[in-house]
Amino acid sequence: AAKGGGRGQFRFYSDDLQNAANDRREIEEDLRDAIAAETLEMHYQPQVDTQTHQVKGFEALMRWEHPEHGFISPGVFIPIAEDSSLIDDLGTWALRQSCKDAAAWPGELPVSVNVSARQFLNEELPEVVEKALKDSGLAPSRLELEITESVFMGDMSMTETMFASLKKLGVKLSLDDFGTGFSSMSYLSKAPFDKIKIDQSFVRGCAGEAKSNLAIVVAIAGLARALDMTIVAEGVEAMDELEIICRQDIDLVQGFIFSRAIPQDQIMAKLDSGEMQYEPVGPAVQRAE
Ligand code: C2E
Ligand code: MG
Ligand code: MG
Ligand code: MG
Repeated sequence: AAKGGGRGQFRFYSDDLQNAANDRREIEEDLRDAIAAETLEMHYQPQVDTQTHQVKGFEALMRWEHPEHGFISPGVFIPIAEDSSLIDDLGTWALRQSCKDAAAWPGELPVSVNVSARQFLNEELPEVVEKALKDSGLAPSRLELEITESVFMGDMSMTETMFASLKKLGVKLSLDDFGTGFSSMSYLSKAPFDKIKIDQSFVRGCAGEAKSNLAIVVAIAGLARALDMTIVAEGVEAMDELEIICRQDIDLVQGFIFSRAIPQDQIMAKLDSGEMQYEPVGPAVQRAE
């Protein structure tokens, strides 16, 4: 019986794998259609000053409402797109749309756009960025590209050439999810990052039981300060987390405590009415998800 069960389990497992592969293929095909049909959207999540609660910029986050399966998280479909050349089309679209939207925002607020490692290794990226800036009229200094530590794992001379080409365009570079990947301090000091984002896995719970998380947050902030980078704490959800983050040497907070990513029309309505301030969302809606 044990043996039969084992075989059964194996079959069950391989069916699951097959389903997962089919799902991936389906998602990939549907994503290709979505790019063509222009049914993807960019939403924007504010980055808020820890001291004044003023908005200082927004991160562009892709949103996809699948015709049958409903909302699919970019945490699911971006890695699938990265496994194919789809990420190039997707990434180009995200850049162009984000630059266009940001160009309509009043004031000089910057937009941060995620660039995946595969996009970063595509030598056409500087041209794509330059064209997105030119076509939208967005000043290069208002565009920030968010990349992760994974770009340090490839060919370093290519990575350094790309850094130089992008900096030459006048855009800003931001290091996303810091602490989750390679986290090499020597690369951090060599690479021309303007901003560093402390990953939400260290920020979450840093006010409570997770004392080592707070120690990591403080250490990263100290290092980034010494290197003259703007420091962002990602994923702040709760009031106690916000309070402790605001007592550290951290410039900006991005988290559900202030707002999730919202569509362009809502950003415009808020900014046009001169509302530059965010207030923490009350305890009743804390701890979303
Ligand atoms: P990321 O770049 O680290 O983006 C931050 C993610 O954290 C977003 O998830 C955001 O909604 C979420 N977040 C922000 N504050 C909180 C919070 O307080 N609590 C919790 N639980 N989550 C919070 P999202 O939009 O689901 O995106 C997931 C990832 O997908 C992004 O992580 C990024 O790696 C990727 N992604 C999203 N849009 C794009 C895009 O246009 N291009 C590329 N290449 N990647 C993208
Ligand atoms: Mg990001
Ligand atoms: Mg992040
Ligand atoms: Mg991430």
